[in-house]
Amino acid sequence: MTSERDAPALLLDNVVKTYGSIRAVDGVSFSAAPGAFVALLGPNGAGKTTLFQLLAGLFVPDSGRIEIMGQDMRRNPVPALAKLGIVFQQPTLDLELTVTGNLLFHAGLHGMPRSVAMRRIEADLARLGLAKRAHDRTAQLSGGNRRRVELARALLHEPRVLLMDEPTVGLDPASRSDLLKLILSMRTERSVAVLWATHLCNEVSGADRVIVLHHGKVLADTTPAKLVADAGAHTIEEAFLAMTGPQ
Ligand code: ATP
Repeated sequence: MTSERDAPALLLDNVVKTYGSIRAVDGVSFSAAPGAFVALLGPNGAGKTTLFQLLAGLFVPDSGRIEIMGQDMRRNPVPALAKLGIVFQQPTLDLELTVTGNLLFHAGLHGMPRSVAMRRIEADLARLGLAKRAHDRTAQLSGGNRRRVELARALLHEPRVLLMDEPTVGLDPASRSDLLKLILSMRTERSVAVLWATHLCNEVSGADRVIVLHHGKVLADTTPAKLVADAGAHTIEEAFLAMTGPQ
């Protein structure tokens, strides 16, 4: 275990997860520095969701090591998970609860005193442009605003690593771009490393690093500009298709 002060926010070392004969995650290693925005770019079936399930502690890898802020997920899952925030691909808010009700429920799961939770909820909803919606039923919110509530919930316990699994699925282009801009500014404000899984190349250009995942393996771990240059391509999409398209 690395000390928390010197540790990368997120570390994966040769992580493997199989389903029978399928190697969904096949020896994946990478790290993310505190406050970095890392895009995990992969086509359907690349292993992104499986990787997120391992990072979220829903499954244990067959082999390999995962650390969050220097805490080993296998040996110290409680402190490791306490530093992790997650926005899952499928929306998971209770639509019958108010916005604040959803957030208070999450705060309770983290053992946060109500007064601390209310202070953070008010500040975060204001930061996310949702102050006026705090007492609305969540069902009344647009898809883009529901995602913002999920983001507020994921950040409420002040994690150091934020996992976002294809968070723009189902959003219109303006909401997609707003969410991305918000994350890019908030990760610096909060010093939270973001791992953003996507198959959309236009969501990757502002990333500090892009990791291309295909058939469970890391094909590239570099900057968006270098990804394009190394492939002799003109765009991220061209580079991505050259690496992962039909051979
Ligand atoms: P998508 O973008 O379509 O969600 P993904 O990159 O998230 O894809 P995964 O869902 O992790 O990819 O799937 C990786 C591989 O593992 C695929 O071949 C998939 O069929 C397989 N797989 C995933 N979950 C299971 C499971 N529970 N049982 C068997 N195979 C699985």
